[in-house]
Amino acid sequence: MTVFENVRILSFNPPSVSAPTDVSADGGLITAIGPGLSSLNPQAERVAGEGRFLSPGLVCSHTHLYSALARGLLVTIQPSKDFAQQLRNLWWRLDRAIDLPILEASALAGCADAALAGVTGLVDHHAGPEAIEGSLSVIRKAYEQVGLRGLLCYETTDRNGIEGARAGVAENVRFAKEIAADRAAGKAVLTEACIGAHAPFTIGDATLGLLADAVKSTGRGLHIHVAEDKYDAVDSRHRFSLDPLVRLDRAGLLDGRTIIGHGLWLSESEVELLSERDGFLAHNARSNMNNGVGYNTLLTKHRNVVLGTDGMGADMLEEFKFAVFRHRESGGPWWPGDFLVCLDRGNRLLERYAALGPASGNAEPRVFGRVEEGAAADLVLWDYDEPTPLSGDNVAGHIAFGLSSRSAGSVMVAGRFVVRDRKALFDQTRIAAKAREQAARMWKRMEER
Ligand SMILES: [Zn+2]
Repeated sequence: MTVFENVRILSFNPPSVSAPTDVSADGGLITAIGPGLSSLNPQAERVAGEGRFLSPGLVCSHTHLYSALARGLLVTIQPSKDFAQQLRNLWWRLDRAIDLPILEASALAGCADAALAGVTGLVDHHAGPEAIEGSLSVIRKAYEQVGLRGLLCYETTDRNGIEGARAGVAENVRFAKEIAADRAAGKAVLTEACIGAHAPFTIGDATLGLLADAVKSTGRGLHIHVAEDKYDAVDSRHRFSLDPLVRLDRAGLLDGRTIIGHGLWLSESEVELLSERDGFLAHNARSNMNNGVGYNTLLTKHRNVVLGTDGMGADMLEEFKFAVFRHRESGGPWWPGDFLVCLDRGNRLLERYAALGPASGNAEPRVFGRVEEGAAADLVLWDYDEPTPLSGDNVAGHIAFGLSSRSAGSVMVAGRFVVRDRKALFDQTRIAAKAREQAARMWKRMEER
């Protein structure tokens, strides 16, 4: 058992700051909140919380760990005139260069970065067409080595032929079965499975059918990019005479576990459809800026917006700031508090996948993102000496204009510290060294592709 002593609980939704109190965690769950918990539990590990804030861990709801080794990329890349060329000239060369050792190093480096930024949950969308089989288990091991929670999937696509598409679907289904079997055997799992696909413009109807079967047979939801660039929406109307989300919906692929990445070019009726199906829209403001694909002007019309980095690290407080300021620039009506609701909503995603576990038996958490008894002990202890008063009314303002990941002092996932007093409890030096070595290999392999 761990007892955080004299912490002020910082909640995101609804935002609040408590008076100093104690919080105990045991067996992966928060077990009690109230003063004097350490005297009641003299054997517990004590964590001094005086002057610190204890919050739920942060969730990144859309990322690509395979791009962790693209930082500072030194590879000859042809200039691109548009997004489709960007994919061809850069990203599809990068993902083809990935083999399993590169993937392992990349996933570990990305997970390590996330943990140090106070991120306890990562939703990954993986592509690596030359090393598909077993790839999700490699990523799972990286999550477990660092100690993170999350949702994994493989980006099924037709761009490497129907055999490539079949292999993508098969990897998603294999991994979902692996997780289901572990849960059935009573093992607590940190990672769950989605059914992944790249984007409608690289998915023909045959593959769409395979994805629908996979969603149905596993009970998992689809995780896919849709209308990141206008091209995806135009292609769907041109080739299939359907709006892209209508096409997915007709295949039975929109439900409460669906994650739609980007959606910048969805029409108003598609936004309504996704909201009716209670699916999630993963907004990645910084990535959209970087790719020059436009801004999601219908963002505020969505029911379930969550925030992701789209592979640009996993610093969710930084991403939050980008989301807020890009929205302000667009003249949109949302305030920082609205984006704090979106940041917190990543936990609803985790909850919907946690509900796939056995109804009783092991003590797997069902509630995320709350500091309350019975919720997951996914926590961040912030070393934040607030320079202005901090209360429930201005939590979002503190994050937009000040609080950053450098204040993420200690990070706990499932009741286990992964970062303690700014020091990684995983082998950060080895992970970084391995990442540099594999990055050099990957860049060389990209030159050959
Ligand atoms: Zn993405």
